[in-house]
Amino acid sequence: MQSNSSPGGRPASNSPVGRPAGWHNWAGNVTASPRRIAAPATAEEVAAEVRRAAEDGLTIRMTGSGHSFTPTAVSDGVLLNPGRLTAIRSVDAAAGTVTVEAGCPLHVLNAELLARGLSLANMGDIQVQTVAGATQTGTHGTGRDLGGMAAQVAGLELVLADGRIVTCSAQNPTAAGVSLFDAARVGLGALGVVTAVTFNVVPAFLLEAREEPMSWSQVISQLDELTADNEHFEFYWFPHSEGCLTKRNNRSDGPARPLPRWRYWLDDEFLSNSVFNLTCQLGRRMPSIIPTVNSMAAKALGSRTYTDAAYKVFTSPRRVRFKEEEYAVPRAALSDVLAEVKSLFQRRDWRISFPIEVRVTPGDDLWLSTAYGRDSAYIAIHVFHSSPHEEYFGDVESIMTAVGGRPHWGKMHTRDADYLAGVYPKHGDFVAVRDALDPDRRFGNAYLTQVLGA
Ligand SMILES: Cc1cc2nc3c(=O)[nH]c(=O)nc-3n(C[C@H](O)[C@H](O)[C@H](O)COP(=O)(O)OP(=O)(O)OC[C@H]3O[C@@H](n4cnc5c(N)ncnc54)[C@H](O)[C@@H]3O)c2cc1C
Repeated sequence: MQSNSSPGGRPASNSPVGRPAGWHNWAGNVTASPRRIAAPATAEEVAAEVRRAAEDGLTIRMTGSGHSFTPTAVSDGVLLNPGRLTAIRSVDAAAGTVTVEAGCPLHVLNAELLARGLSLANMGDIQVQTVAGATQTGTHGTGRDLGGMAAQVAGLELVLADGRIVTCSAQNPTAAGVSLFDAARVGLGALGVVTAVTFNVVPAFLLEAREEPMSWSQVISQLDELTADNEHFEFYWFPHSEGCLTKRNNRSDGPARPLPRWRYWLDDEFLSNSVFNLTCQLGRRMPSIIPTVNSMAAKALGSRTYTDAAYKVFTSPRRVRFKEEEYAVPRAALSDVLAEVKSLFQRRDWRISFPIEVRVTPGDDLWLSTAYGRDSAYIAIHVFHSSPHEEYFGDVESIMTAVGGRPHWGKMHTRDADYLAGVYPKHGDFVAVRDALDPDRRFGNAYLTQVLGA
């Protein structure tokens, strides 16, 4: 487990089920006070909760592990904790699929798959989210040829607002009279409570990770080659400096050469988390030191190469709490957008400790995927959890929206349904499916009103 949270967010797991209790997300910037919390263990129990909520005139939603920065998971009616809906239902190695219950954390799925010689093909940076939570907001990593987590979904089981349990899949995309598979893979929890997810999986594979510092100008001048020549390329730029850390992950025939335990502890636990946490706290009190610290960090994170099971290379621990905004922009606009973001730092008196993360994915066909219909690049910005974010996030957001950027559904943004209808060609179709399936907004909350309309 990579961060100290569990399915259901913090601290729903220690809130008594059934009684009113507080809930807050991992970052601590979203809270909820639902009328009741329930932890169903089967799809039938979820359906009973949905019917009961309807009888009581309450909204109802299920949370994942609370790792979204937006108030997407919250409900002031009934909050379903996924902690008892975590089983691996079936693995079909021949078909290359695995079916897991919605609340299964990714780290459990990854370990179980590896034990069976299987793996997800691509992942994001962490593995503590639940399978439903990760896919419902379009969680992604970086990939030249491989898209985000929801693009690997082969089928879904959902409980609809009327309590029906339905399934949809690539082979049978229509259910309840609507194109459920297209709409519900990235469904924001707006169409139903997902009770199980079937993923396409691949034979387990090794990734060789090559991490090395490069200067901003080197990275920008080679961006096309770096993203074309590597299966998974990403980089971090340290604001107020010219330093970048690049990461190239490519499949390897082996042998596995994991990081020695001491090196993993030093780099990934001590420097990237413990020391970084201290420098963030120090920077919060003395912002003037941040440019120096960032320049040092860009140099301190030296080159390293290692080869390990794919999920151990894709993911790493993130214990320093932060707030985040991330936008997907057309891949072709990436260099220009990055140059504009960098120039903001010359005009503003900011002191930002967190590196800016840049990733890419190919276009896909999931209606509300940030990569729908276009090759995409992602730019993610962060601030320490207790630092103000408004001006920084707002100014960067203006750059992103000028090129038709699409905000990550789980990361902070200020976009509304009108804007989103303009950048998602299938936004209207999604809203129509929602109208058909949930006319009473049983699964509604304020965030969905913001991004989908009333
Ligand atoms: C440290 C950190 C690192 C991150 N790294 C990445 C990254 O690399 N790439 C990336 O794209 N994102 C990343 N994220 C964002 C994160 O992956 C998403 O916000 C994801 O949705 C969180 O999953 P969760 O299980 O915590 O779900 P939650 O945040 O709890 O819920 C997300 C949404 O899914 C809905 N939901 C959950 N379960 C169900 C269900 N059973 N049925 C219907 N709806 C459901 C919720 O209601 C809510 O709308 C990161 C976040 C953090 C805090």
